[in-house]
Amino acid sequence: MDLQLTEEQSLVQRTARDAAERLLAPHAARRDVTGEFPVSELRALADLGLLGVAVPEELGGAGAGTIAYSLAMQELARADASVAVTVSVSNMVAELIAANGTPQQISHWVPRLVSGELVCGAFALSEPQAGSDPAALTTRAEKTDRGWRLSGTKQWITSGDRAGVLVVWAMTDPRAGHKGISAFLVPGGSPGLTVSRIEEKMGLHGSSTAQLVLDGVEVGEDAMLSGPGRGFALAMMALDGGRIGIASQALGIARGALEAAVRYASERTQFDVPIIRHQAIGNMLADAATWLDAGTLLTLRAADLKQRHQPYSQAASMAKLFSSEKAGLICDIALQVHGGYGYTRDFPIERACRDVRVTRIYEGTSEIQRIVIARNLLRAQ
Ligand SMILES: Cc1cc2nc3c(=O)[nH]c(=O)nc-3n(C[C@H](O)[C@H](O)[C@H](O)COP(=O)(O)OP(=O)(O)OC[C@H]3O[C@@H](n4cnc5c(N)ncnc54)[C@H](O)[C@@H]3O)c2cc1C
Repeated sequence: MDLQLTEEQSLVQRTARDAAERLLAPHAARRDVTGEFPVSELRALADLGLLGVAVPEELGGAGAGTIAYSLAMQELARADASVAVTVSVSNMVAELIAANGTPQQISHWVPRLVSGELVCGAFALSEPQAGSDPAALTTRAEKTDRGWRLSGTKQWITSGDRAGVLVVWAMTDPRAGHKGISAFLVPGGSPGLTVSRIEEKMGLHGSSTAQLVLDGVEVGEDAMLSGPGRGFALAMMALDGGRIGIASQALGIARGALEAAVRYASERTQFDVPIIRHQAIGNMLADAATWLDAGTLLTLRAADLKQRHQPYSQAASMAKLFSSEKAGLICDIALQVHGGYGYTRDFPIERACRDVRVTRIYEGTSEIQRIVIARNLLRAQ
């Protein structure tokens, strides 16, 4: 892996940093309080090519690869983790369709996703009783004369109430277990698709998390993504890539918190010296900076493998496990360094602590990442 960024990767990083500071940072704290969904911000990011960094150019993306995508995600999350997760999920949907759709599916959905026309996409896999074990999902797709009829409940769907298109996983052959699961492209606002609940979360208030009920949603024959029974494999493939996005999100949140902590520790004096000169504070910040760099290297390695079409599942799980766990610790250190002020809303650290927590949970909990890594260790024997 070349540790030197290419000109294109640097350009994407600078573009994302500038957009994040100009468009996202000034209103992130307000969105955290109001919970407003960042429609105009997403469209502005789309205009800059940031909704399709890794999507091929011929489909309207920037075609800049997964390393550039990770760098962009880190910059967005450094300013507003809610916008970052919305972009990450939407990107996962765009890449999934681009890699597995029919020519018609690809041309119909992907350019509209990356241009911001559809605002965002959603990934509807989890269900109330099927989280870590998505093979246990019970949403059914029944064959009709004109296509498929989908019925069931989806849980925790990021942007589920906002997305222009949702990838919905459903059982087409219950006797075949996980090999009976298929994926469908469902337009947002389809008749029979209702939002039954918007979750009130600890953090990520500017990201919408919906419970969805599909009550006989009719889709055409051409709505199935890839073949029947291919859904589980598609989901696992998409989640491998998604984990690079969530690792990047965690790193971005942590970087923002660490930068604030170093700034604060250099300015705040106690016992007549800046607190960073107290060894206890300096040590905590040194650990945090080291973890941040280690997580970044793991994540860029996974991104590098992915964009070179090498196996990257294990690397993505390691990147997500390490980055999300350490990002939580880094944000906690940043709060400690701020003392009592860190516990207030006057500083962005308490938001970072709330926002970062879920990176250890979604797109596979830390426990599930360890299972993936251990299985790969066994396989390598
Ligand atoms: C804010 C938010 C946004 C989300 N967005 C989406 C989305 O857009 N699309 C989507 O499909 N899903 C989404 N999810 C769902 C997310 O992926 C799940 O929450 C996650 O996979 C865990 O599932 P669960 O919550 O049902 O927990 P469970 O699977 O019930 O797990 C509970 C606990 O048991 C542990 N556990 C489970 N199985 C094992 C095992 N075999 N070994 C050891 N420990 C185990 C878990 O690690 C966890 O600690 C989102 C979740 C949240 C909170």
